[in-house]
Amino acid sequence: MPYVVTRQAYYYQRGLWVEVAAGGFDYSGPDMLVEKFKHLGEGQEFRSPVDAAAAAVAIAKAWRESEHVVVHLTAKGEVAGYFGAEGEAMSSRQVQRWAKKEYAHLDKCARCGEILPSKKSHPGRYYLPEYEDEGEFCSQHCSDLVFEDIVKVEVEEGFRCRECGEPVGRISYTYEGKGAYCSAGCAERHHGPSFELSKLKQEER
Ligand SMILES: [Zn+2]
Ligand SMILES: [Zn+2]
Repeated sequence: MPYVVTRQAYYYQRGLWVEVAAGGFDYSGPDMLVEKFKHLGEGQEFRSPVDAAAAAVAIAKAWRESEHVVVHLTAKGEVAGYFGAEGEAMSSRQVQRWAKKEYAHLDKCARCGEILPSKKSHPGRYYLPEYEDEGEFCSQHCSDLVFEDIVKVEVEEGFRCRECGEPVGRISYTYEGKGAYCSAGCAERHHGPSFELSKLKQEER
């Protein structure tokens, strides 16, 4: 969910505004002014609401100082299907607090903490097909690092059953080449209705 900072001349409330809109341009107000503070982040999409809020505060300040006008600040959450809603006037501090709250709710990379792209645009999210419990990652790099850690632990400590967590011995079971199980029963419990005995193999190390 990108955050966009625009300058606006709101139609209903009047006056000049700097607006942070969650959800991108589709959710920005319709009374957008031509970009003037591009170097400060105007018209830019931010992945982090905290960065967007900082840009909005900087733009409002630069606008006030350069044109000696009253500039209002606002930040809007994503209102599905409601294009062009006007925000309510907020102080810089309120916008920053809003941004922190937004930030707390976003999904982050399980390895580095980077904000993940929204679920809707799934490309850009990575996960380990055999270790979905590890969470989602921002990049191939982060998922590779986690995978390396898992493999290292498995080699050092011995493999553990993916279902019950017990260490598996020299002989383990694998189903469709995924994971290691201590027994056929654990493989069946883990894979449920899709389980076909013919796809179960014993592995020896
Ligand atoms: Zn990451
Ligand atoms: Zn088991």
